[in-house]
Amino acid sequence: MGSAVAYHLARRGLKVLALEQFDIPHEFGSSHGVSRIIRLAYAEHPNYVPLLQRAYELWRELERKTGERLLFVTGGIDAGEESSSLVSGSLLSCQIHDLPHERLDSASITRRFPGYRLGQEMIGIYQPDAGFLLAERCVVAHVVAAQKLGAEVRARERMMQWRTVEGGVSVKTNRDSYRARKMIITAGPWSRTMVPALRDTAVPERQVVIWTQPLQPDYFKLGVFPVFNMEVPEGRFYGFPVYGVPGFKIGKYHHRLERVDDLDQMDRDCSLEDEDVLRAGIRRYFPDANGPTMGMKTCLFTNSPDEHFILDRLVSDPQVGIAAGFSGHGFKFCSVVGEIMTELMIDGAPKLNIEMFRLSRFAAAQVRDCRN
Ligand SMILES: Cc1cc2nc3c(=O)[nH]c(=O)nc-3n(C[C@H](O)[C@H](O)[C@H](O)COP(=O)(O)OP(=O)(O)OC[C@H]3O[C@@H](n4cnc5c(N)ncnc54)[C@H](O)[C@@H]3O)c2cc1C
Repeated sequence: MGSAVAYHLARRGLKVLALEQFDIPHEFGSSHGVSRIIRLAYAEHPNYVPLLQRAYELWRELERKTGERLLFVTGGIDAGEESSSLVSGSLLSCQIHDLPHERLDSASITRRFPGYRLGQEMIGIYQPDAGFLLAERCVVAHVVAAQKLGAEVRARERMMQWRTVEGGVSVKTNRDSYRARKMIITAGPWSRTMVPALRDTAVPERQVVIWTQPLQPDYFKLGVFPVFNMEVPEGRFYGFPVYGVPGFKIGKYHHRLERVDDLDQMDRDCSLEDEDVLRAGIRRYFPDANGPTMGMKTCLFTNSPDEHFILDRLVSDPQVGIAAGFSGHGFKFCSVVGEIMTELMIDGAPKLNIEMFRLSRFAAAQVRDCRN
């Protein structure tokens, strides 16, 4: 998010300083690794679809600017029982926004995409625009494009403190001090340590993904296997065709429900217990991918209470913007979040509607809870 914000601010001709506490890229936050799914039939809420349509445009624009391919369209399947929130939500987004899609039963899915073995009770919404983004390359591309436009980007520099001052903000890092007229905080899992208002509304959670060697490599190839999300009794799985590293990649939302209060103490190793959670999904729904383990990695979600994003300025300090709480589904939106936060902070309001992402919705919910 920070790399995209830096790019969009620089694109407006502003003087930009971007700070990153680790390297660019690095493996300690939420945006590392090869791939992240992008999809248009958005089960989480149909209001995300206009943001996604703009996100696709901006990813393509970034590809043109940097001469690098970042987005691969594979088609995507949202699967589960007809009544599941994933299938009904995906279908609703398709209907409201008139998105091309097909409703497929489990046998048709296996005929067309032989890697899939869904239960008879399951159906899938196939949406042809879904695919994946090359995650770390996207971060690098935004940084390089921002630098080309004059942004100053500094890695291994950690913001230690900030405060509002007359006409702007003052920031202290481990290396220096700065003043700026405005500041946008995109600190991912660290957001709650930077912004007290996010203490209970942007909470980190440990995640794990695995890559396994397919037993039938042809079924899981790029061009054959569509990305997926799947709501099943075990939970919600997501996965990708083989690309970039050996192996079929699968993860499970909220993995083992491990909230992380101290990021310095987080367990960044992957265990056999972690593997069991993911193998259960592979064994049952993708048996032809159930070969030897090729790799595993930890990563972090930053969950908001309703799992919708937080895109706002602070009421107490309106010169400070925040983009946080991406709740495990934010990467695909980085490009458009960069544009939205720029418009919010520079023009006063973005062109796209971000009402449902206001931080104040949680304060309002707390007041309602007290009254009940
Ligand atoms: C396993 C996994 C799978 C996912 N799959 C998908 C997917 O398929 N599709 C999708 O759309 N999304 C997916 N997501 C979610 C997506 O990756 C995140 O929503 C997104 O990467 C969040 O980006 P961010 O910039 O908010 O956080 P981060 O990438 O963590 O960036 C925050 C940055 O701020 C820096 N920082 C923090 N504090 C300071 C400080 N004080 N000073 C300087 N720098 C600081 C950090 O070092 C970090 O680099 C997935 C997430 C995980 C963990």
